[in-house]
Amino acid sequence: MSISFKSAEVKAGDVFDTIIIGMGPAAYGTALYTARYMLNTLIIGETPGGQLTEAGEVDDYLGLIGYQAADVIKVFNSHVIKYKVPQLMDTVESFRREGDYYVVKTKRKGEFKSKTIIVTVGVKRRKLNVPGEQEFAGRGVSYCSICDAPLFKGREVVVVGGGDSALEGAELLSRYATKVYLVHRRDSFRAQPVYVKMVSEKPNVEIIMNSVVTKIEGEKIVKEVEIENIKNKQRRKLNVNGIFVEIGFEPPVDFARKNNLETDENGYIKVDDWMRTNLPLVYAAGDCTNKWLGFRQIITAVSQGAIAAYSAYKDLSEGKDVKENN
Ligand code: NAD
Repeated sequence: MSISFKSAEVKAGDVFDTIIIGMGPAAYGTALYTARYMLNTLIIGETPGGQLTEAGEVDDYLGLIGYQAADVIKVFNSHVIKYKVPQLMDTVESFRREGDYYVVKTKRKGEFKSKTIIVTVGVKRRKLNVPGEQEFAGRGVSYCSICDAPLFKGREVVVVGGGDSALEGAELLSRYATKVYLVHRRDSFRAQPVYVKMVSEKPNVEIIMNSVVTKIEGEKIVKEVEIENIKNKQRRKLNVNGIFVEIGFEPPVDFARKNNLETDENGYIKVDDWMRTNLPLVYAAGDCTNKWLGFRQIITAVSQGAIAAYSAYKDLSEGKDVKENN
């Protein structure tokens, strides 16, 4: 999915109060508030909308009833445009302290200076990398059970994975779908036993172990998922309208390491309750942080962005500078 987007006319060397790195829901939530606090803001991100570009219908953001994800991106984008926040489509390679500023180095447009940085680089959801996955993304292929479960009321679905998200997803989906196939490539689950027990007791969940998805097929939407038993190589076709890929995330470990951002044991950027990182005047929000792991929503990403913006405004107002330790 692509949306028409005009990249900002900014030039290397320009100076800002805050630079937001990323262009997903967390970035838009941040920008709305930095703009309202009258911080001179620049957003630098690779993909307008972030993970929303892979979603279909969104019905879990208060006030946006049954919007297509592309329209949610447009709504978020237009709100930020209203506040005249420039948005530059580029990749941030790194940032470093220099005098009273952070210098942000981009891949294409050169370097920018800023008093504060708000990191909203998100995560990458692991993919199955099988035929049909990309083609049917948002049309039956989902990466978020909590987000999309209600869309599959009265249908049959597959959930793929063996960790907490997959089992929690299967449990939730069993309340909406008539049948849930839980497909896992190993012979035991990594998820907490309490989830395994809960799912095993559901009459409409069929657990299929030692199996992988080999193909997703359909017309306008998903119609069939092919799986293969990795032990006996037998294939089976499941007639379903949805497949939930819950096989984990890749946190921004390299980005954090390159920029001296402290992470937790899983690689997520550590933040305090006010979204401050270990670096002075550097904040983080959204999926890239270690906050609220296991409950990641547009609404939570946007809220974290608003809080990060408030903290940046407050710290600048109180005269904090980049040389101070948090
Ligand atoms: P995100 O992953 O959506 O956005 C991250 C952004 O940062 C992307 O635009 C990415 O291209 C950009 N980026 C990454 N590295 C960069 C770099 N070095 N330089 C510049 N840009 C870089 O993450 P988010 O904004 O934290 O929030 C996403 C939230 O939306 C999540 O909580 C997710 O669960 C939720 N979501 C919900 C639905 C739904 O259907 N309800 C669908 C998709 C996502």
